Amino acid sequence: MRRCPYLEEFVKDRRSVLRVYRFDCHVDRKSKRKYALSDSPPICVRTYEDCPLYQAEKRREDRTITRYTD
Ligand code: SF4
Repeated sequence: MRRCPYLEEFVKDRRSVLRVYRFDCHVDRKSKRKYALSDSPPICVRTYEDCPLYQAEKRREDRTITRYTD
């Protein structure tokens, strides 16, 4: 499974007809929940490169690495 490098914990659960996804993000340090009727995992385990939080953190890390290698 593809997963964002900033994803700390990912739990998939079922509550009757609902699928519940709980995921903890290292970037904003929040624990989030997503509810869906059909299989629909959060962006963190799909196209995480499109997530604004991922993009901001990646840019910040890349800038830090550039600073150390210059
Ligand atoms: S995809 Fe975005 S919200 Fe999900 S863990 Fe990565 S940075 Fe956080």
